[in-house]
Amino acid sequence: MVMVTSGHLADGRQILWFDEGSEPRLVVPDLRDLPATASTSEQRWDPIVGEWVTVASHRQRRTFLPPVDQCPLCPSAEDRRTEIPTTDFQVVVFENRFPSFSQQATVPDDGVTLDPRLYHRERGHGRCEVIVFSDRHGETFATLSPGRVRLVIEAWAERTEALNAMPTVAQVFCFENRGAEIGVTLSHPHGQIYGYPVVTSRTRVMLENAGRYREATGRNLFADVLASERSGGRRVVASNRHWTAFVPAAARWPFEIHLYPHRHVPDLPATDDAERAALAEIYAEILRRLDGVYQVDMPYIAAWHQAPAHTGREDAYLHLELFSIMRAPGKVKALAESESGMGMFINDIAPEHAADLLRAYRW
Ligand SMILES: [Zn+2]
Repeated sequence: MVMVTSGHLADGRQILWFDEGSEPRLVVPDLRDLPATASTSEQRWDPIVGEWVTVASHRQRRTFLPPVDQCPLCPSAEDRRTEIPTTDFQVVVFENRFPSFSQQATVPDDGVTLDPRLYHRERGHGRCEVIVFSDRHGETFATLSPGRVRLVIEAWAERTEALNAMPTVAQVFCFENRGAEIGVTLSHPHGQIYGYPVVTSRTRVMLENAGRYREATGRNLFADVLASERSGGRRVVASNRHWTAFVPAAARWPFEIHLYPHRHVPDLPATDDAERAALAEIYAEILRRLDGVYQVDMPYIAAWHQAPAHTGREDAYLHLELFSIMRAPGKVKALAESESGMGMFINDIAPEHAADLLRAYRW
């Protein structure tokens, strides 16, 4: 049972408390004196590679690795008011103060004109939310209780549904990351939820490939990849009744794990109770395995791939892509010349060896 309580922050942004149980939370007003934020965010179309780029120059002002006593994601106390007005919480979601996309975004009034024969320029008209996993600053996702992980999954599913229903949102991306090495600017355990105004290029390419595969074979590409990995077993890292985690055959990153539900569903809202319970277990397991390889907290990005709001829902297949840029203790894979310049990934660790290391860890 999940209780969702809605409120607003001092500058009008929405905040939602997700609590286990059936008791509604007493909403405490946000007493800060916050100026309204203006977000200038725009989408520019790059005609050469056929991709949208978001320009959100106001984000340069955002908070960067503040000291613990100034963490904006800790609960509020009598003498210190944060982004979360209550003195405790379980899981909280609120609109980002420095969003890359916003319902109110405007194209900057900068006098710039782009050649309309080549370029499109549109408002970065979406939604950016922050999801905080715990009111304890020192916690990480891997140490959350199973009940708390489940609550995070419920929040992801609820927000995916809510953002998909917003008229300016084309695709919802829930993600979680850890480690200053990959640009996390706040160490408090949290993730983000993006409601993009367009379908991202990676998703578009995936769905084009899946569409061609369906036309050629009548089958679902993602389902066939999953079935192949499960029957081969060589790269499987963990599995339970409803989910299988494996290192993909063409992994780009030193440690990369893809987690699929056994049932073909387009997104998190489509998962059922049993699948969510099993997901909470296996998610915690793969994070433990990742940290176990070198016995250090690995920096990682955990990216949920879900069907866009309006297109490609038949071919899309919910899955998590989790990857670490750490290839050895203290050695971080930088996006070097080949990856940054040409989009050609060079992975120094064989995917089968990475799977062996991830599978071997015992606790
Ligand atoms: Zn904190």
